[in-house]
Amino acid sequence: GLVDKIKEAGELVLLTNAQFPPYEYLGDDNQPTGVDIEIAQKIADELGVKLTVVDMDFDGLVPALNGGKGDFIAAGYTITEERQQSVDFSDEYATSNQMVIVTKDDPKVAGATVEDLAGKTIGVQLGTTGDLFVSDEVEGATVKQYKSAIEAGMDLANGKLDAVVVDKLPAQSIVANNDSLTVYDDVLTTEQYAMAVRKGESDDLLEVINKVLADMKGDIQDLTQKHFDQYS
Ligand code: GLN
Repeated sequence: GLVDKIKEAGELVLLTNAQFPPYEYLGDDNQPTGVDIEIAQKIADELGVKLTVVDMDFDGLVPALNGGKGDFIAAGYTITEERQQSVDFSDEYATSNQMVIVTKDDPKVAGATVEDLAGKTIGVQLGTTGDLFVSDEVEGATVKQYKSAIEAGMDLANGKLDAVVVDKLPAQSIVANNDSLTVYDDVLTTEQYAMAVRKGESDDLLEVINKVLADMKGDIQDLTQKHFDQYS
């Protein structure tokens, strides 16, 4: 099985995109850190192997997983029916929402509804649930797809966008680091995060991941707050 292979190799390879605080971001030493990285480390510890983190573009994660470049994805990764066609998901370990970031002064979008977003120029991270939501549900929007929501936030602050749609805690992290931006309290979606493994051939790894997630359940809230404070 996969777990035997991982133990033989002596390493568990995590695929992530370290531009998504507090779940994964580059720390002061420029190394990926965050909630998902700490959970992944616990999974590696459980297996008795070292953790290797591969930091890559978000839209490359599933191709990399299915191409054998890593053992699993942890990336604040939302469970969707479409993704369930190409990966297997672990148990969920966090709840999130898509939220709307605007400029504090003279916001170009009046609130966080589909109607408010209609016809606006909206920044998203390519391939995310925020991208899919805006592209599919918002009428007449110009969707600008970025490699990261952090970059989109900069363009919003520079007046190149009307709003950015991104997950709740990354949105709050971006706003905490940019005095000219704010985020509406109302939400567009509710989503669950889980880790993803290669479909149909990773059941033994999934079992280990789910055991670690169950063991850590009571700690994830504190871990999330710690990394949120650390980034902000
Ligand atoms: N939760 C969103 C998704 O899964 C965004 C994840 C991310 O940007 N890392 O699409």
